[in-house]
Amino acid sequence: MLALQGDVREHVDILEKLGVEPVEVRDVEDLEGLAGLIVPGGESTTIGKILVESGLLDSVRSFFYKGGPVWGTCAGMVLAASATTSGRQPLLGLMNALVERNGFGRQVNSFEKDLEIEGFEEPFTGVFIRAPFFEDVGPGVEVIGKVGEKIVAAKGENILVTAFHPELTDDHRFHEYFLREVCKL
Ligand code: GLN
Repeated sequence: MLALQGDVREHVDILEKLGVEPVEVRDVEDLEGLAGLIVPGGESTTIGKILVESGLLDSVRSFFYKGGPVWGTCAGMVLAASATTSGRQPLLGLMNALVERNGFGRQVNSFEKDLEIEGFEEPFTGVFIRAPFFEDVGPGVEVIGKVGEKIVAAKGENILVTAFHPELTDDHRFHEYFLREVCKL
């Protein structure tokens, strides 16, 4: 669990409920031996800045490129992208995707929506808070959820991204999905 800023506690609580041992990552050494890494929602510019200062930006990239499983939610999805539609900020660039930050408007435009997710039998209620979306994705990225034409959930070989916040619901299917399909636990 990347624990620099944002929705850390909520993810940690769910991971504990699911019987895995969460590790809070604040330094490069904390990445050692992890079965997977969640990059939480929060503020992508702040998380990006601390990633650079702590040296974790390069370490998370090498964790990922050596096959380490990563899940980015909301700000974590922004950070996982290879480019943003506007502005400049540090990105991890783990996924071949163009991201629109705050793609659904400002904080007041936060909303909940039932989503059809590829591989899920029942709809999943997405909680969107200043949520991003992927405007476009390149080869190797599988789109698993959309709101209209906006891509809000996607998957790659060892990565998952969601524009919404599964950690703010009692529905743990996305955490289970990450552990099972991406971390292969
Ligand atoms: N849009 C925000 C950002 O770019 C993310 C919002 C969130 O994580 N709830 O950082």
